[in-house]
This record gives sequence, C-alpha cells and structure tokens, in this order.
Amino acid sequence: MVAAGVAVAAHAATPDVQAAPLSPAAEGVSLAEPTAPGSAVYTVALTSDATGHSWSGTEKISFANPGHAPISEFWIRLWGNGVTGCVGSPPERISALIGGRIAETTENCTAYRIVLDTALAPGARGEISFGLAIDVPVRQDRFGVNGVDTYLGNALAVLAVKDENGWELPPYVAFGESYYSLTADYDVTLDHPAALQVPSSGTVVGETPVGDRIVTHITAAKVRDFSWSAGAFNHDHMVTASGVTVDAYWPNSESDSRCRELMRYAADALESYGVRFGAYPYPRFTIVFDEFGSAFDGMEYPNYVLASAHAGAVAHEVAHQWWFALVGDDQYRHPWLDEAFAEYSAERFQGGVTPAHGCDWIAADERMDVGMDVFERAGDPLYHDAVYHEGTCMLYDLEDTIGRDAMNRLLHGLVDRYAYGVMRPQDVRALAAEVSGKDLSAFWARWRNAGD
Ligand SMILES: [Zn+2]
Repeated sequence: MVAAGVAVAAHAATPDVQAAPLSPAAEGVSLAEPTAPGSAVYTVALTSDATGHSWSGTEKISFANPGHAPISEFWIRLWGNGVTGCVGSPPERISALIGGRIAETTENCTAYRIVLDTALAPGARGEISFGLAIDVPVRQDRFGVNGVDTYLGNALAVLAVKDENGWELPPYVAFGESYYSLTADYDVTLDHPAALQVPSSGTVVGETPVGDRIVTHITAAKVRDFSWSAGAFNHDHMVTASGVTVDAYWPNSESDSRCRELMRYAADALESYGVRFGAYPYPRFTIVFDEFGSAFDGMEYPNYVLASAHAGAVAHEVAHQWWFALVGDDQYRHPWLDEAFAEYSAERFQGGVTPAHGCDWIAADERMDVGMDVFERAGDPLYHDAVYHEGTCMLYDLEDTIGRDAMNRLLHGLVDRYAYGVMRPQDVRALAAEVSGKDLSAFWARWRNAGD
C-alpha cells in the first residue's frame, strides 16, 4: 500500500542490472507440521447487478491435507466486512454451506470457523462450497464504490493461515494490511454488463457475450489472492520485452496520455525488477489508475494493482509483485517486510541515490520490528515513518554496508528461496549474513529491527 499524499519524486528510470538466472522457485511454505488445508483451488462464479456494485453467486474451495493428522476444521477470511463488521447486513455474506458448517465468527465477521462434515484424511482432498453475496459499500476504499467504479479488493473468501503461531486471525486494519494467505489456483467467472470492464488478477481466458452482458472467465495460477474491479474504464495494453501483457485501465476522470505513459512506466518497472530480482513469472499484469482521495495512493494485489496516476505510486505497487505477491509475508505481524522492500525497490528504480525521505526516527520508542497491533495504537504517521521511511533508509544502509553485489544476491536469493512461499524476518537476516559473510547483528539492532 502507499498512503495518500506520500508522493515520491520521480527520477529517470535507471534499471538495475543483475544477471543471475532465476532458479526454480520453492513450492509452498515451510511451516512446522501442517494441520491446515493446503494446495487450494478456488472456483468462483459471480453475477453482478447493472452497476457492478453488487455481486452474487457461488464459491468453492478445494484443498488438500498435506499433513499427517486429519483436518476437521479451519478458518476462512471475508475481508470485505472489515470496516463495517457484523452490524445489520454485512457487505459480504456466505450462505448454503456444503461440506461443513459455520461454527463461529470473529474479528467483525471477517473470520469464519468452518467445521467439516467429514474430517479430511492425510493426503486426501476435500472441498466446501457456499453462496457468496457482495454489496460493495459506497466509499473511497480498496473495497468500495469510488465514484462510479467498483473496487473489490480481497473480496473473495480465502483460507486463513495456520503457522508456527497457530491460526493467524488478525483484525482488519484500515491504514495498512492484515492479509496473509498461501498461494493457490483460481478459476473465476464474472457475469457483468457489457458496458463494464473487469480488470483483475490473473489472465482472461474467455469472454462470452450473452445479450447485453459478458461472461468473463479468468484463471490465475499460484497467486495468494484474487481481486478485481468493475467500471466503464478506458483501456490500453502492451507487451513487455519479456512477453508479459500489461493491461492498463482508467476512468474518464484520468488523463488518457498520462495513463498510457504510466502504463509504459509500469512495464519498464516490471522489466527492471525482473532483471534484478528474478523474472515476473505470470503472463499478465494489470494496473488501474484512479484517485482514492485521502484513503490511499496505491494498493497491491497479486497480478493487479490500484495506483494514483504518478510514477512513485506505480513504481511502489509494481515492486509489491515481488515483495508480498510472489514472496509472501505475514503483513500484520511484519509489515516492514513487504513495505520496506517495495519502497526501497521503487526508489532505486526511480534512480534515487539516497532515500527520498529523512532517516531520523520521529519517536524515541519507535521500532520497525513490530506488528500492526502496535502501529494501530501508535497511529498512521508512526507506521509510515517506521515501515516506509526508516525501512527504506535501512535497506539503503544495508546496500552500503554489504555492497551492491551482495545486495543483489540477497534480493535475488530471497525470491529464489521464498517465491510462492512466505518470508520471515529471520530469513532476511540470515541470507544477508550469508551473502555478505558479515555479522550484521549490530546493524539490525541499530535499525530497531532485531526481533522476530
Ligand atoms: Zn506498499
């Protein structure tokens, strides 16, 4: 995410060159004995109303039991209820559950505990399916109707993650992210008015006109979520040198020429990051340019981002395709992991020789290695300073400390090891020590980032 009003000066793009090949990516996530569903396949069919504000249909989640003990229950997240909670009729509702029952809801109706009708044996696959109704609230938000366009960020029900801390069920956070999910395959069918376009994660594999509507069929492989929007957008596309289709969309309120220029800029960023970190491994990248007022300046999803029409937001959100989308992290416990890496990547791509912001902590007790629970109490300014500004300063300093070559080996190595998986703070520290041959414990302590 990038907060509103945090514009970063646009420098000339000077791609970083680092030539190591991308090694085969690690599958899944290295967790202790797994007792949670894995290898999920989501099959979704939704039909919108005439405006694209309301959607209803079905969602099926198929999953494996990768462990050695039966699975009898698990949690799913329904993030669209995060702002308004359970009061009245929540924006997102599930019904007619087949394969299990809802035993409990918590965290403002964003978390549902599902008890399976039949426990799933080790190695077996099971599934649940349910009706899903979505009424997107009118508000400037990543899950909101913004003017005439509808944004459905994190709107599909996703499996929660059980890791070394147990079930991770963080609350929704308005000014940051709580999203934490494992990579999965999505097959999504959206039935919508022909006048509306549906920019999304994944790749369109079919468009079937039915009267004045279109049924758009989209697939997304090995992504950790699926989001989309609906609106009468303008559209253009291009193909990068390495063969990735970049689709850009924008409402009439945005400048055509500016958005086309930024589409090419996004393609340049995609190529540059691909050289430095490892190639973008998906066939399509989609970007929607729009203004979200004071709500935010950009928001990341797998294969798909929202961005204000300026270079800093674009560079940052494209970088999230590596830091968050490909290399996953627990965004609630360790928000610095993807935000610091995304902002550092963006500023380097933009040609920033030094960090764009000052490197002085604004509070004596501020720390980088804390979760969104602490930042919710401290407030957005401290979150922004610790995670984005000091985090970027820290990574510039790390590059100065270990050298450009070692920094490139670190970044490429993190992608090699943790692509499609989950990266932890200790993984970053361990690989930084490994590639540099240095004891960096004093470095991390100085940056108030020595905890887990
Ligand atoms: Zn971000």
